[in-house]
Amino acid sequence: MDLFRDLTPAQREAVSHVDGPMLVLAGAGSGKTRVITRRVAHLIRSGIPGRRILALTFTNKAAGEMRERIASLVPDHGVWVGTFHALCARLLREFGPRIGLDRGFTIYDQSDRLRVIKSVLDQLDLSDAGVAPEKVESAISRAKNDMLDPETFLSRRGDGGDHVSAVVGRVYKAYQLRLLESAAVDFDDLLVHVVSLLKEDRELRARLDDRYRYILVDEYQDTNLAQYAIVRALSVDAPNLCVTGDPDQSIYGWRGANLNNILEFEHDYPGCKVVRLERNYRSTKNILRVADHVIRHNRRRKPKALTTENPEGEPVELATFASEADEAQAVASTIADLVRDGGYSFGEIAVFVRVTALTRGFESAFRSLAIPYQVVGGVSFYERVEVKDALAYLSLLNNPKDDVAFLRAVNAPPRGIGKVSLDRLQSFARDRGLPMLASARDAASVAGLTPKARSGLRDFALLMDELAALSDHSAEEVIRRLLHLSGYREYWAKQPKGDGEDRVANLDELVSAARQFDLEHPEATILDFLADVTLSSAVDRWKDEGGAVTLMTLHAAKGLEFPVVFIVGLEQGLLPHSRASDNDAELEEERRLFFVGITRAQKELRLSHCRVREFRGQRSVAIPSQFLSELPEGPIRYRDQSGMDGEGSLSIRRSAPRPPERPEPRPGGISSGRFRVTTAAALGQGGASASPEGPASDLDAFRPGLLVLHPQYG
Ligand code: ATP
Ligand code: MG
Repeated sequence: MDLFRDLTPAQREAVSHVDGPMLVLAGAGSGKTRVITRRVAHLIRSGIPGRRILALTFTNKAAGEMRERIASLVPDHGVWVGTFHALCARLLREFGPRIGLDRGFTIYDQSDRLRVIKSVLDQLDLSDAGVAPEKVESAISRAKNDMLDPETFLSRRGDGGDHVSAVVGRVYKAYQLRLLESAAVDFDDLLVHVVSLLKEDRELRARLDDRYRYILVDEYQDTNLAQYAIVRALSVDAPNLCVTGDPDQSIYGWRGANLNNILEFEHDYPGCKVVRLERNYRSTKNILRVADHVIRHNRRRKPKALTTENPEGEPVELATFASEADEAQAVASTIADLVRDGGYSFGEIAVFVRVTALTRGFESAFRSLAIPYQVVGGVSFYERVEVKDALAYLSLLNNPKDDVAFLRAVNAPPRGIGKVSLDRLQSFARDRGLPMLASARDAASVAGLTPKARSGLRDFALLMDELAALSDHSAEEVIRRLLHLSGYREYWAKQPKGDGEDRVANLDELVSAARQFDLEHPEATILDFLADVTLSSAVDRWKDEGGAVTLMTLHAAKGLEFPVVFIVGLEQGLLPHSRASDNDAELEEERRLFFVGITRAQKELRLSHCRVREFRGQRSVAIPSQFLSELPEGPIRYRDQSGMDGEGSLSIRRSAPRPPERPEPRPGGISSGRFRVTTAAALGQGGASASPEGPASDLDAFRPGLLVLHPQYG
């Protein structure tokens, strides 16, 4: 296929670029992702071996799509396409031992991490310190994303009397120690460890820089400091880095994403080529008008042109309902109509919510009208108890030091080992610096165990030995055998009808997932299977079956597109989220999130809110989202079904967009001189080159200077 035929001149320019850094800065739906795939194909056709190319995205779903698209252009491409986390997991399997990490390390997901944090709070007698484990968890995650180790975190924030930071600091330190003892890493560590590796091992950095000659990153606006540092470190000798992004779609600030990464790209990579795409191919004129009008209310942004040759399309609908139940019913029946009379299929329709808790009401409305649907981001398959239990066996097989996995597996099925016995075993293990599994083997020496617990522990250790002998079998085989030998499948099969049946079905589903994995990755080991399932995010499990309405959060919708989009629950406290209410920067991020939702729609966009909402057990009057007052006048069709005094949606007072706060960008570039750490310094290669160049931009107020927060990179 001709790679250039159906591209605009600007897209063509980006696709044909080969050597040197390039920034593709463009609005929603303008073909950034298309440019990335085509460019990869172009590089390969120009004779660059696929294994020297790295294409990074943010969800496995996006990665999967990209892999397929590239394969359809150049079969057997050999390009590594994946998420940052998957890349890091792979690099750590290969090189982790250089920083003291076992090759067989376990990856802890969020629930594992919370478990460890709770246990550390217990251990440090801080359970009653008035800081919720979830709060500690997010603070630790944030610190890691900002690349602050426990010591730095403590020295920076721990003293000075801030109680919460002091607690977080202590837990952070003990938590890291726990992970180290268990040879485990959490999601954030995957990135942070790779940064350390690249920073400390110059030879390796250079080798990887050379291995990945060409790097492409989609959605660069959502990279955090660690991701930035990784890409930076791999693009020193061969700065053939191409990033695409849209600052108006930056929605992960709360998770440490740093908008400056994209805004400063030209500054970081002097002489880089900048391509702007200004034509939207996705949405109707009306949808684009609404999107543009809303986002112009953000002050910290650079205005940009985005037009489309697509038709005007239907007006955007804004509907008002009396209650959340009415809203869900109305959305469901509208969807039924769209499919019956509008020529759409269920798979072309998506409903976006701000928080996952809102999906439940829509699920029941869909069920009542027999509308097929899929929830993305709810309790997903791999988070189900029985599946996690089975996976815990695998983790423990790979990594006998993994105490979290031990604690899960040891009583799945119940082996008569109570909490007291496990506590005793745990202190026995801790006193001797042994993993719990090793201590279980020696259960006879642990004081104070019941005979039942003692024999249960011994049996469990023997079972693990038996399973260990299978470790070089296929993933499917190992899982099948462990479910059988442990008696875990049998345990659920014997439970009364209903619950047990479901769980057995899920366990069987896990076996088929493993079989599928073995087929797709004939060379892979059970370790690879584990990494794959732990890293597969909610979006990945969303299958393009064509036949089901997609119900998902706005965050998960990034990068996707649907002919018909509903954005529901447009009320104060939901969107914008209540936590953003007193903070301008966060409010702007909520507005960008709304913008991302709007720009997913190709043909029809329907917005709604209700007058009264029951949420988390509370019934209260719901105030329309302030963003609704920011919709433009023309392209909106109002529909008030709340049955309240004629006033309806008109009570939404309109507000005009505000002029941008920042000066217009300098011609030919988007940089705004500010403190910035450059590669050599970031990699500890001498030549500290962070230097103030002109006045710091307004964006510094938005995200405080890196230099101040991260002296270790200065
Ligand atoms: P987002 O910012 O939402 O990630 P994007 O900039 O990555 O959007 P794409 O998803 O690459 O945009 O493209 C949006 C849609 O427009 C896709 O359906 C794509 O196939 C289509 N498209 C892009 N460029 C062209 C073109 N030159 N001709 C026809 N269709 C195009
Ligand atoms: Mg895209």
